Amino acid sequence: MEPGTVLRADRVITPDRELSPGWVVVEDGGISDLGEGDGPDAGESIDLKGLTLVPGFVDLHVHGGGGFSFDTGRADDVRGFRRWVPSTGVTSFLGTVIGLSIEDGRLSVEALASAEESEGGAELIGINLEGPFLSLERPGAIPPSWITPPDVGVFEALHDASDGSLRLMTVAPEVQGANEVIVAAQARGVTISVGHSAASYDVALRTFGGGARHVTHAFNGMSPFHHRDPGIVGAALDSAGVTIEVIADGVHLHPATVSMLVQAFGTERVALITDAVPMAGRREGSLRLGDQVATLKDGRVTLPDGTIAGSASTMDSVVRNVVRWGVCDLAGVVRMASTVPAAAVAAGNRKGRIEQGYDADLVALDSDLRVVATWVGGELAFEVKKRYKKPLTRARGRRFL
Ligand SMILES: [Zn+2]
Repeated sequence: MEPGTVLRADRVITPDRELSPGWVVVEDGGISDLGEGDGPDAGESIDLKGLTLVPGFVDLHVHGGGGFSFDTGRADDVRGFRRWVPSTGVTSFLGTVIGLSIEDGRLSVEALASAEESEGGAELIGINLEGPFLSLERPGAIPPSWITPPDVGVFEALHDASDGSLRLMTVAPEVQGANEVIVAAQARGVTISVGHSAASYDVALRTFGGGARHVTHAFNGMSPFHHRDPGIVGAALDSAGVTIEVIADGVHLHPATVSMLVQAFGTERVALITDAVPMAGRREGSLRLGDQVATLKDGRVTLPDGTIAGSASTMDSVVRNVVRWGVCDLAGVVRMASTVPAAAVAAGNRKGRIEQGYDADLVALDSDLRVVATWVGGELAFEVKKRYKKPLTRARGRRFL
């Protein structure tokens, strides 16, 4: 958009404040000003009548979507995903990698790292390694051939392949040798997430005490909550500042479980994720996972034995779910979909909020919380064409004096 363009919406949820009506000025890809009321009389304005403007969603845990996969080792798939995912309100994400082997995973990491600079679409803000130092007791749908005993040399090789863009790594801390890998990863600025793990409350508490800051999909891929061993989720709750991922797709967790987690942790410590597989955003499809095939049917992605193998959800759909289930208000949901995930990977100073100096990563939602338009760094990355042609027509007003 032109420098100094003003976006005017019925509501702007920053999410620390609600401006109604609100306006946002976009300059050089960033937010230069915002406020309540009609706003400045600028040269270019975009009228978002009847719409709510929120910060773009940040998905920390996503394996692909729209038919594009991060596990092919092809940078073109990453670029295709970047162009597709703004249709779901996502403006930045961590490309999440699982391999069939260490070498296979390394190639996927390399492909993501080489696609990072490409222009257009959602911003790839780093890589999330889901493994390979996980527990064979809690693999979920992860191919056992990817899981390997903790080894600093293997970590270093994956880190080197990422060209420094590794931001998050899931580790099972109870596995012998995990500590050395955790220390090495933290020294390289990688946030440690506890998951795919059978860790007890005590082990998990020690791991958070040692600097781990995040939990991979709470309750999924870990020992269940037990009243005499509250496990990883219990330990995370007792560790200030630790954030948890929640898959609010209605399949991985019961809505009441999502509500319980949000009530216990507060919206400041929950990151909504999709854990989406490449067929997310489609009605049906299948996906090879090692020597097994996962199938999408009726909104569930499962292996033949019924094991859930990622989700087919999108960030806009999990946002709608959480609102529909009455878990919290829209500001709280936006905090969990944008602000918390951005902060969890040290991007909270430029993403996850509509504030002065932040990137102009914005999503316009209609009253059903469907995505109408998405901007990444002030550039229009998605727009619903027919239905909303009128509200998005640019009105040329007087120059801002
Ligand atoms: Zn995953």
